[in-house]
Amino acid sequence: MDEKSLSNTKRYLAQKGATFREVLTVTLPTGQEQEVVVFSGSRSLVAQATTFDTIVVHENVFRSEKCKDYVMVHETAHLRQWYSHWQFAAAVSIIPSVLVAIFTQNIVIGFVVFAALLFGFKWFIEFNADSQSIRTLGIETVREAKADGKALFHPTILGHIFNRITHPPISLTYLVMRALKLKLGSK
Ligand SMILES: [Zn+2]
Repeated sequence: MDEKSLSNTKRYLAQKGATFREVLTVTLPTGQEQEVVVFSGSRSLVAQATTFDTIVVHENVFRSEKCKDYVMVHETAHLRQWYSHWQFAAAVSIIPSVLVAIFTQNIVIGFVVFAALLFGFKWFIEFNADSQSIRTLGIETVREAKADGKALFHPTILGHIFNRITHPPISLTYLVMRALKLKLGSK
């Protein structure tokens, strides 16, 4: 991890009210090694792939082996998604929304389309990272990891709602994966 990425990441953590702990090299279930920035504090942040191409992970995540494996596979999947930055999501959502607003002559409909595209895009990004986790760890381990995470972090009701809006449920991701596999397999 270069100095600039690290100092940017530290600044980002400070903005979130989190405390920098250490830079850790973690071995993924796939055998691949990944450097992560470990932090403490901040109840709203569990783990994130940042715009500085670094991964930040709350120290509590390491209390559960399954939770750690899930978070690591999920966040490294995000690092590979070059399109996952919000600027790109906003750019691809805004053009169709403006067109809809012009054709319907209704700014509200345009805004609804924009919000739907933006959240749809976010769900696709999370679906992609979670399907990578399911492929690597298996659905049962991912479910157990999520249960461990809940026990470790006690999300607030508001946090839970926000998470539900921005992330597809794991059972839905699994269902879609199976459906796609069935379709692919029937060729
Ligand atoms: Zn994610």
